[in-house]
Amino acid sequence: MQAAHPIIVVGAGLAGVGIARELAARGEKVILLDKGEPGRGTSFGNMASIAVNGFDAASRPSTWKNLPRWMMNPQAPVTADPLYAVKMMPWFLRFLAAGRPKRIREIEDAGASLATRALGDIRSLLDQMAASDLLSEATCLQLYETEKAFQDGRGNLELMDRYGLKYEVLVGPALREREPLLNPAILKAVLLPQNHFVTDPYRYVSAIVADMQKHGGELMNGELARVERDIRGVTAVILKDGRRIETDRVVIAMGMQTADIAKALDESIPLETERGYHTQIMAPGGAAGLRYSLIWPERAFMVTPTAGGIRVGGSVEMAGLTRAPNWRRARILVEHAKFALPSLDVGNTTEWMGHRPATPDTIPVLSASAKTKGLYYSTGHGHLGLTYSATTGILMADMIMGRTPPVDMTPFRIDRF
Ligand SMILES: Cc1cc2nc3c(=O)[nH]c(=O)nc-3n(C[C@H](O)[C@H](O)[C@H](O)COP(=O)(O)OP(=O)(O)OC[C@H]3O[C@@H](n4cnc5c(N)ncnc54)[C@H](O)[C@@H]3O)c2cc1C
Repeated sequence: MQAAHPIIVVGAGLAGVGIARELAARGEKVILLDKGEPGRGTSFGNMASIAVNGFDAASRPSTWKNLPRWMMNPQAPVTADPLYAVKMMPWFLRFLAAGRPKRIREIEDAGASLATRALGDIRSLLDQMAASDLLSEATCLQLYETEKAFQDGRGNLELMDRYGLKYEVLVGPALREREPLLNPAILKAVLLPQNHFVTDPYRYVSAIVADMQKHGGELMNGELARVERDIRGVTAVILKDGRRIETDRVVIAMGMQTADIAKALDESIPLETERGYHTQIMAPGGAAGLRYSLIWPERAFMVTPTAGGIRVGGSVEMAGLTRAPNWRRARILVEHAKFALPSLDVGNTTEWMGHRPATPDTIPVLSASAKTKGLYYSTGHGHLGLTYSATTGILMADMIMGRTPPVDMTPFRIDRF
């Protein structure tokens, strides 16, 4: 039987739409609220990759070792605005604390509990939606230019070994045969057979929203101003234009803005924006026949055949929410891509920047409020919002409906901070 009030999911990005759709498909009354068009936030421009091996803890000794060198180099995969670096110091201190060996293992265990089921959950979601065409059957090559880079990256292979993910190391002719477009200067690649990609990230979000509506969920345009509560828990949400919607369950999945609402409700989510860029190339010349998505860990960028062309993107820029994009970051990635794929033409392009909502310990917040009954949070998906999208929907819907999720949700609790 449906409850009298709708469950309100605020934020129609990857962290919210899967939850709203799952609840609607299970027969719950749902409103998905967004101040803009669904899927037009950070979820619009990601690299489309279901990166099931991408759950390494971001804070680890190898990252720390590189940080000083990266900070001095505008071409580095990670950069920080020096003035902003001071402002983000509290987050950065938590980031360092997350890099203790015991904590790294906990973070990896938690990440693996989501990542190892992510592809299956996305497949199942798309099957249920009769939208399997949104998943490419092509997979991913992880590139290494030198033997040293490969050895430096061994940690990721050990991670995959530990959690039972498959991979294959390709060298020389075997690599060239798989992907003839690659620059012969690239020595090795790791084939990641479980890292598929979606054929269009924006269409993926839109299809989930449409399916939610098919199941009776309502999409509403409006900006959340605050959540009203009394001693029993959530009572309503108030929108900026004054509208008041009564509810006893609300999910805050507002990307970077989630932290502000949490703060107003006496809870702390340390979120930082890891700004990232893409260039969408609609006339890629000889690279139009690219068979795989490519990830180059050393240079922190990806190339994915998606959204009707070739998308080049990645990079991490710590510079806050308000500073104008530095398009040079996007152009550096295109130069890297031209090196990897010498036949790539850069014609008919658009550039984009987005804000990855990142926690200092890499793993998302998928949690009931520790303070207010009926309040839930879904945020901090960082580099893996697409990867975790369907899994987030299932686990959060279980939690909201009072069922036991199939994954231990303790590591994702809001009160871990
Ligand atoms: C360059 C780049 C590449 C990436 N590549 C990948 C990848 O290959 N694979 C992967 O898994 N992940 C990737 N990601 C990460 C992924 O895109 C993010 O983790 C994900 O999009 C975050 O989704 P979100 O729903 O939290 O945020 P958003 O998509 O930003 O959604 C938040 C929504 O909340 C709404 N909102 C905010 N405030 C309010 C309010 N007050 N009232 C109502 N609505 C509100 C916004 O309008 C927005 O629609 C990448 C990210 C970037 C930047």
